[in-house]
Amino acid sequence: MIANHRVHPSASADTSDVTALAERIDALLPQTQCGRCGYVGCAPYALAIAEGHADIDRCPPGGDTGAAALAAVAGRAAKPVDRARGVPGPLLVARIDEAACIGCTLCIAACPVDAIVGAQRRMHVVLPSLCSGCELCVAACPVDCIAMHPAGRDWSQDDADAARERHRERNARVTRAERIANRATTLGTPAGVVPTAAPTEARAAAAAAALARARARRHAVRS
Ligand code: SF4
Ligand code: SF4
Ligand code: SF4
Repeated sequence: MIANHRVHPSASADTSDVTALAERIDALLPQTQCGRCGYVGCAPYALAIAEGHADIDRCPPGGDTGAAALAAVAGRAAKPVDRARGVPGPLLVARIDEAACIGCTLCIAACPVDAIVGAQRRMHVVLPSLCSGCELCVAACPVDCIAMHPAGRDWSQDDADAARERHRERNARVTRAERIANRATTLGTPAGVVPTAAPTEARAAAAAAALARARARRHAVRS
């Protein structure tokens, strides 16, 4: 669900200005990579703000304080977070019911910050110190064995910086795997070689579907 309407045109800004502004905006975002802003991560949202395609009120994890900081940097009017995108709240972390886990690895594929460890047909575990509370794994689990719990701590700037790096590394890994899979499709996959990643469009669709399920779940819990 990518927003396309232009909120605050900045067509006169050249590319390097936009890039520099996007970096300053990204530095203010919490880097949970939850997608509640409607973009597939914090960096694309930062770029959309810098380009004038998105407003500053779309990041629930950043809260109203974060929205105010974004407004100041982007030169926009301050406004609170749009609650339709999620209600700001304390940090949650995912926990897996190990007895129910079937080892399908779908949660690992869904986790944007590499906070889950496990192997096929083996029990999976969330590393609480790395979990950003994005909830994307909850919707991805086919047997509903992941639940969110209070983290009992705040999400710090160090957490955000580390999550940004893990997200970048993960994206680079997925892109490499997609390139290999696409080449295998073009040339014909040799016997015994299994493509390791879905094409980008399929992955984006899967992420959007997981996000929609997470939103529906949050809505059901609140109502
Ligand atoms: S933390 Fe979530 S809602 Fe906020 S910018 Fe990042 S991906 Fe978007
Ligand atoms: S473990 Fe789940 S909630 Fe935590 S960061 Fe990964 S996908 Fe998000
Ligand atoms: S998605 Fe659920 S069942 Fe599959 S590995 Fe993760 S926790 Fe286990």
